[in-house]
Amino acid sequence: MTHGPTPPLHDVAECWDDDVDDFIPPVPDAVDLVLETATMLSVFAAERLRRIEALRREELALIIGLGAGTIDVAERSIRLELSAAMRITEYAAGRLLLQADALVNRYPSALDALGEARITEKHAEFLVDLLDQVMPELRADVVDRAVALAEAEPVGTFRRRLRDLIAQVEAKTLEERYASAVAGRRIAIEAGSDGMGLLLLNAPLVELQAIHGRATAMAKAIKATEGETRTLDQIRADVVSDLLIDGTTAHVSATASGIRASVVVTVPALSLLAENAGTTGDAPVVEGVGPIPLSQARELCGGDSKRMRVLTHPETGMVLSVGREQYSPPPALRKLVKWRADRCMGPGCGVPASRCEVDHQVAWSREDGETSLDNLAPLCKGHHTVKHHGGWDVQQIAGSGGAVGWTSPTGRRYVVAPERRVPTVRVAGGEGARDCDGAGVHDAPF
Ligand SMILES: [Zn+2]
Repeated sequence: MTHGPTPPLHDVAECWDDDVDDFIPPVPDAVDLVLETATMLSVFAAERLRRIEALRREELALIIGLGAGTIDVAERSIRLELSAAMRITEYAAGRLLLQADALVNRYPSALDALGEARITEKHAEFLVDLLDQVMPELRADVVDRAVALAEAEPVGTFRRRLRDLIAQVEAKTLEERYASAVAGRRIAIEAGSDGMGLLLLNAPLVELQAIHGRATAMAKAIKATEGETRTLDQIRADVVSDLLIDGTTAHVSATASGIRASVVVTVPALSLLAENAGTTGDAPVVEGVGPIPLSQARELCGGDSKRMRVLTHPETGMVLSVGREQYSPPPALRKLVKWRADRCMGPGCGVPASRCEVDHQVAWSREDGETSLDNLAPLCKGHHTVKHHGGWDVQQIAGSGGAVGWTSPTGRRYVVAPERRVPTVRVAGGEGARDCDGAGVHDAPF
């Protein structure tokens, strides 16, 4: 044993009885020792930022008192002093000054969280960087939730969820901003060199996503044909050119020509029904795009039947399972599992679900390992391997709506929540909700 206090000899003697197997020495393990220093770093980071802000204020008063130049020059002077004293670059000193100013004066609750080691310095940095971009009048809506997120999530997940949160809050004013922005739609050509150039299309992001999605799907079908040597990028560009110039896909293979774009639109059902739903904060979201105006979502949900519609209901959920019937989840279930998680369900992982493998948490080889929503989650290749061969125990938490608990070889537990709640699926055409509990599964529009 290399760490921790050695118990005095008489204690050891007392323990040396029949219960010796149950004796757990009060010694922190290797992970505890690392965490201890991480805690200290957070506490010191907060204290350093407080002192830097105090220095800034003191020197600012001093310099302005001397009547020397503008605020800009004074700030520059303070940056120089800090960088010289700490022997870091002026850029790094400038970052520290900005962080200190922001945390002390604008986000004191985040600074307190750092000082009590409830968040790390990285969390604090991202929090400042992201919140500072939010319009000041909207910030109050976000700060407390941002700190709560930072306390609950690893850095990568935190950053992603905070971005989503900000997008949702800003979406309240999206309707107006979208209306004026969409008036500027146009195409343009930007000449390049060597006889090449760029075709620029300024259009609603949803439509661009659909164009890119269709071109990709067609290109993949073409790439799979025998003798095809072009890269995916090249084929994609050719497909778009052909479609725009000839207006037809007759010259490509039948499998590729039948492909239409598919866009996933998530609309909270209540938003769609309520007249003033744009102000509820639950904006419709398009996968890969972010929040869209409600008017546009209504249009998408009433139009082209090729578009996939997923409507989330705040209260009802649904169960999707094929039990022990088959190992491989049917496409609808696979899609729902990935849609729910959006990302790899490894702790802090950001790999998109579309690039993940679908894992049975309770192995199929066991009798109780079912192919059901309650037992499936996407994992990237790396986390899938660690799960199976790294000594971890990974289970979906019953009744959590898809959260996965990871128990490490040292016995620590980390919980990863899915990105979305399990939705209620509505059939296309808006003729009312249909809960997909068993019988309706094959009708789900996935
Ligand atoms: Zn992963």
